[in-house]
Amino acid sequence: MGIVVQKYGGSSLADASSVKRVARRIVESRRQGHDVVVAVSAMGDSTDELLDLANEVSPLPPARELDMLLTAGERISMALVAMAISDLGFTARSFTGSQAGVITDSVHGRAKIIDVTPGRISTALDEGHVVIVAGFQGVSQDTKEITTLGRGGTDTTAVALAAALHADHCEIYTDVDGVFTADPRIVPSARKLDRVSYEEMLELAACGAKILHLRCVEYARRYDIPIHVRSSFSQLEGTWVVPDAAADLPEAEDMEQAIIAGVAHDRSEAKITVVGVPDKVGEAARIFEALADAQINLDMIVQNISAAATSLTDISFTLPRADGQTAMKALAGLRDEIGFASLLYDDKIGKISLIGAGMRSHPGVSAKFFSAIAAAGVNIQMISTSEIRISVIVDEGLVDAAVAAAHSAFDLDSDEVEAVVYGGSGR
Ligand code: ADP
Ligand code: ASP
Ligand code: MG
Repeated sequence: MGIVVQKYGGSSLADASSVKRVARRIVESRRQGHDVVVAVSAMGDSTDELLDLANEVSPLPPARELDMLLTAGERISMALVAMAISDLGFTARSFTGSQAGVITDSVHGRAKIIDVTPGRISTALDEGHVVIVAGFQGVSQDTKEITTLGRGGTDTTAVALAAALHADHCEIYTDVDGVFTADPRIVPSARKLDRVSYEEMLELAACGAKILHLRCVEYARRYDIPIHVRSSFSQLEGTWVVPDAAADLPEAEDMEQAIIAGVAHDRSEAKITVVGVPDKVGEAARIFEALADAQINLDMIVQNISAAATSLTDISFTLPRADGQTAMKALAGLRDEIGFASLLYDDKIGKISLIGAGMRSHPGVSAKFFSAIAAAGVNIQMISTSEIRISVIVDEGLVDAAVAAAHSAFDLDSDEVEAVVYGGSGR
């Protein structure tokens, strides 16, 4: 029997009784004779609660200390799960990310895993223990400091462990039955996908579908690790994230492989408009260099003739809300130098994205998407596209309506039972 790598999210570990339920599930795999390695997240919403606490203590907590604080959440889970397992008559050893050999770069808050050296895990498995690893954390190779991998990062810990331990696949246990055609919290008629390709899952995750951490999908693709996303609350088969979703399907089903994999939404971005930029060579470069120097990742960018005058342009872009104030400060510093008129900041926006590899070969997808959004009475503020994605920015309050409208327009609604959300607060 091989190694099984499982991940349990915070929504599956909300309280003592769910910790015991998860322990029973882990022990089931152990009983079948597998070596079991488990990555766990912090209980319930405890990461958010720790963040709230930090912000009450300090408006701008030092990144190193924030990582120290947040990694405590996963340490609580790992120890409790190990205790519950030993109560069931099996032995378990818990390890922090650092002890488990998760080596990262030195960027606090969004560190990248650069290596996994699972020596202590292998030894513990050889000694017959179940291994529990604190997710979402590692240790920097350069600074030796404790780092975190970004929100939702336990998914990435699990896939990185699966790759390092040469597991066949990685099981991600969560509070819904798999990856759906839209977030089942806002579209109850969303349909569960049996399979989805890495390519489509990357776009879904990048566009806000928080069912999987973006880096975990990148990692899985790089190391060719299939991911099985499923519920920790049911025994149902979930969704397989694989290289090619249509491979091995009977030809008829292959032909019917949907054009669209799903609709994702994201409420974590803000929009900044630099109004009245002189229409001259090099001005956009100056603006975006200042933002790059401030380490800000931009998403969409649009340049228009300014409403103020024809010799001026307005440049709008979207970025993570969390970086909004830093960006405004960096741009305000350029005002005299560039001579733009003003800066506008709007964080009451949402992004809706339609994703599907079939878009490449089917014309008319954008027209249908925009018509559906218009029919729902929603105004589109910005548009961007990639080969297999169309995204629009809309008013934040209209996100749910726009997602539902696009979902129905592409016939994604299920005619079976409604999607079940077993737990979690959706926070
Ligand atoms: P965990 O605590 O297990 O990591 P998360 O809250 O991070 O769980 O992710 C699971 C949630 O992702 C679901 O409860 C659901 O609301 C949300 N979600 C967003 N988009 C999708 C989607 N396309 N399919 C399934 N779930 C989705
Ligand atoms: N506890 C962390 C978070 O809430 C990591 C995770 O859940 O994967 O973001
Ligand atoms: Mg998660």
